[in-house]
Amino acid sequence: MKFTSQVLSTPYPKKDMYGALRFPTYGNAAFEFETAEDIEAAFKGTKPAHAYSRSSNPSVEYFEKTITNITNSIGCLGFSSGMGALSNCIFAICKAGDEIISSNKLFGTTFSLFNETLPALGITVTFIDFNNLDEINKAITKNTKALFFETITNPQIEIYDIKNISAIAKKHEILCIADTTATPPYMFDSKKQGIDVSILSSTKFISGGGTAVGGIIIDNGTYNWKNNKNLANDAIKYGPFTFLRKLRLEIFRNLGACMSPQTATQYSLGLETMELRIDRACSNALQIAQYLESKTKCKAVKYAGLKNSKYFELATELFLYPGSVVCFELESKKECFDLINAFSLIRRATNLHDNKSLIIHPSSTIYSDYTLEQQALIGVNDTMIRLSVGIENIEDLLFDFEQAFQKI
Ligand SMILES: *Cc1c(COP(=O)(O)O)cnc(C)c1O
Repeated sequence: MKFTSQVLSTPYPKKDMYGALRFPTYGNAAFEFETAEDIEAAFKGTKPAHAYSRSSNPSVEYFEKTITNITNSIGCLGFSSGMGALSNCIFAICKAGDEIISSNKLFGTTFSLFNETLPALGITVTFIDFNNLDEINKAITKNTKALFFETITNPQIEIYDIKNISAIAKKHEILCIADTTATPPYMFDSKKQGIDVSILSSTKFISGGGTAVGGIIIDNGTYNWKNNKNLANDAIKYGPFTFLRKLRLEIFRNLGACMSPQTATQYSLGLETMELRIDRACSNALQIAQYLESKTKCKAVKYAGLKNSKYFELATELFLYPGSVVCFELESKKECFDLINAFSLIRRATNLHDNKSLIIHPSSTIYSDYTLEQQALIGVNDTMIRLSVGIENIEDLLFDFEQAFQKI
């Protein structure tokens, strides 16, 4: 079955008593048991059951099962945010003294986690230009636990040679982790490209219109956990489920960044329309990128769907669409601000992949903690605008651009 049919026909973990056509929201913290023996078995895991919603909840489980189903993975875990998913993933595989090798183009908060929070805990992150495979190879040491990159970076819009990067990880027997937020399932098959663990901010495309903050970890079941010293003992017993088990019974439970059942219900609904929304948003994005290319005020346009993008071939090979984020450059910061202020349909806001088109000046907002010199190192500058294209009608989006450009 294709993507949306599969989403719509994912079976419930248990038959609903009333035949509800939508999985109910179990908005409760705790679950009761018939006997002391039953609750003992639930805690031991010998008779799996929901006991407390920080550890597991039926509505979250249904959402996780749907994701597992559509990704052909071995399991998925829902978190309170994308950053919750990311930090839990690192803590499950690393301890003090370990290293991660990461792309140097990252979502702002991920960069801060890697550059400040992890080093303070003794976990080193080496930042490398992931366009350069030799550099990745050279940076790997005996303490390296994983490679990490984003499938389409923003606002730089870089796309890497994912197949060969995952081959490097495989050769060195280290984990290949990708943040696939920009290219969720339906747009991209992370397992096919050799990514072992895929992390997404479900706040973005999955939520169905910026409804709630959340994140997921997907384990494609492709990594041999015996190769990670921290997990090797567990791996003898639990094989491919070592990482998911470590999360569920220790890291995820102890850190407490669980997805709420209300959020999971919104996401299950979001998944049902994700294909339709992605088709529309990505078609809009391409048309806007082409329009911007024709504007003389526009000094550069970054979108991998444009034939003159250096990532065009790679994007075509890897993804169904090259995303719905378009970045472009004007003459000055002032011109950027003037244009941003001139829009009437397009909203001034952070966030990505909402149903509404959102525009922002990254340098003065998302990256404002960093100096212009530091920003330059991560591929950000103050003449750049980021547009996350929504699902409005294209005629109205282009009209908004045209009237905005006329004002500056
Ligand atoms: C938004 C985002 C995150 C963080 O997700 P939150 O849900 O905001 O915590 C991580 N990576 C990428 C690529 C994102 O766009």
